Amino acid sequence: MKDKDIDFCEKAIELAQDIVKIPSEAPPGEEKAVAEKLAEVLSGGGLEAKLVEAAPGRPNVLATLRGMDKGPTLLYQGHIDVVPVGDVSLWSVPPYGGIIRDGKLYGRGASDMKGGVAAMAAAAMALKRQNVPLKGNLVLAFVVDEEVSNLGIKKLIEDGLAADWAVIGEPTNLDVALGHRGVIAFKVRTYGRAAHAAQAQAGVNAIDKAFSFRSEIEKLRETISGRSNSLLGNPSLNLTTIKGGTKVNIIPDFCEMTLDRRLIPGETREAAESEIRALIKELATKDPEFRADFTVTTCVAPGEIVKDHPLVQALSEAVLQVMGKMPQFKGFEATCEASIIIEAMKTPTVIFGPGRIAQAHCADEYVDIEQIAKATASYIELAKNLLTE
Ligand SMILES: [Zn+2]
Repeated sequence: MKDKDIDFCEKAIELAQDIVKIPSEAPPGEEKAVAEKLAEVLSGGGLEAKLVEAAPGRPNVLATLRGMDKGPTLLYQGHIDVVPVGDVSLWSVPPYGGIIRDGKLYGRGASDMKGGVAAMAAAAMALKRQNVPLKGNLVLAFVVDEEVSNLGIKKLIEDGLAADWAVIGEPTNLDVALGHRGVIAFKVRTYGRAAHAAQAQAGVNAIDKAFSFRSEIEKLRETISGRSNSLLGNPSLNLTTIKGGTKVNIIPDFCEMTLDRRLIPGETREAAESEIRALIKELATKDPEFRADFTVTTCVAPGEIVKDHPLVQALSEAVLQVMGKMPQFKGFEATCEASIIIEAMKTPTVIFGPGRIAQAHCADEYVDIEQIAKATASYIELAKNLLTE
């Protein structure tokens, strides 16, 4: 780590602590205070920062560090919403206390991902203060609603956000994540005919039909688990909720299930949907009383970048400069907005940030503050590698 960067690495830790203290849970979507804080800090650091509402009262932060001429644009992206605290009694520290103890910053969002957001902000402010002559722009986009339905990034893309390369600061433990699996949530409903349980033959039991569906899911799961991606592993399909029936003595006419389907690169929403459709059709052929339909309630595509892409090489070089060794490459364990940026903006995207995904969404979430510092220095070096001669 370079001496002149150390102040900014410390600034990143301080900023991370400050913004962890500001709750920004989604749901319900209370990101405004943290967005305002970040915009104020970035403006104070000499960047052109503005708030862009994704929904009423839910602003994204968009900031630009302008280069000298019309060179390429590098985007640093992160989300400012956090998942709810959950059961507070499981926490040994106040979730919004911003406590630093034994080299760890504790709090909801510390790993996912206010540590990464603070590191990106501090890196941009360092480049500004050090008057690094950039040939293109460095853009920061800190968005709302990532944990729910990606309203924030979608709004910026709709408004014309564009970049040649993007880095998402989600927690990768400072490894370089080259992609993530996609996710589809299906809601499947089976239908029957209600009857008194004493005259069951007059009815059609929707829960029994749901169990037939479940057996077929087992077979489909076997088929898809034969597929694999070297970094991201296998796709998956799991029945995650089921509800049906109204009363002990009534044959149920309705049952509803949710399925969580993880996709690997190469799998599409259309293909995953048609697998479910085919399964329902097959059941209906075998059993004339089987009736079911489904809807898709969430869909994030999978996304990846190749290891020899210039962006990955430039990031690896930056990590080598800061940490003295080449990074590890892996797949990101959760989903994030990389695939949205890759698909909608056609921008090659890599995931790299402080903290661990195992920490995300848990009680006593924390991030190692040394990782925030190293991420900051790496983001500074990466911008220099890509945006200076
Ligand atoms: Zn996240």
